Amino acid sequence: MPAPDHRQALDRARDALDRGRAKAAVRHGWTAAQDAARARRPDQLAEVADLAAAIAERAGGRAAGDAEVLGRYCARLREEQLAGIEPSRPLDAIFDVFRRQRTKTCPDCAEKIKADARLCRYCGYRYPADPEPRR
Ligand SMILES: [Zn+2]
Repeated sequence: MPAPDHRQALDRARDALDRGRAKAAVRHGWTAAQDAARARRPDQLAEVADLAAAIAERAGGRAAGDAEVLGRYCARLREEQLAGIEPSRPLDAIFDVFRRQRTKTCPDCAEKIKADARLCRYCGYRYPADPEPRR
């Protein structure tokens, strides 16, 4: 069976999106993208890119931004694969993009803190329980 991990991750991402859990959908989307990158399957990358577009459309705030990063990554890697370009370290590139996205800037002290943090570790700024969409 070809790339069962990719299929499973895509199904989970779609399921999460259906339940309105955009953040989880993006996470599963990255798993699907990793598998597609590893298997060198541009068709699968296109599927993930479509899913990312759907998430970005339905989600708000940071999840929408994360989904756009995922979509851009899949689109770029897909073009490279179709052009026969061998990315030097595709998985590292994925994780780099993902890691960079996992921080936010404290509105009070402007330090970079973890994206999921509710409390700034530098100045003690407390985020509201439901983060406002990023402007
Ligand atoms: Zn702060």
